[in-house]
Amino acid sequence: MSKQNEVITKTVTQQEYEAYLAANDFSNYTKSDPKEILKIEDLLELRSGILKDESYSVSKVICSCGKTLTFFDFLTTAISENSHSKLFLVHALLGNKYGFQKPRLVTCSACGDQHIAYYTTPNYSCPNGGITHLGTN
Ligand SMILES: [Zn+2]
Repeated sequence: MSKQNEVITKTVTQQEYEAYLAANDFSNYTKSDPKEILKIEDLLELRSGILKDESYSVSKVICSCGKTLTFFDFLTTAISENSHSKLFLVHALLGNKYGFQKPRLVTCSACGDQHIAYYTTPNYSCPNGGITHLGTN
């Protein structure tokens, strides 16, 4: 396991990425609301408001404890596993690279249970069947 844990496994152009977003229906995803965006900015030690126009969504997963997983859980999982530094995540969220990632285990921030969750952000996504999309299956 010497390979670095990258945020984006498959890089595409901005145009290809926007085509992907336009071609897929994310209406069943849980989208971060403005209150959660503020929590995310705080978590990543960013200026308040810098992410306000961004859109972060996670596929609908309701944990056994009753909590609906959100992108905040995705970020706290990445940070607590120490797989990504906060700076690395900020760069992934606000950088100029577009692409796709494989599904990840996301830990519920309320109870610690783990779930596979898909997600989408303005520049990178783990699509449904993400591995298939990456052409490795
Ligand atoms: Zn839970």
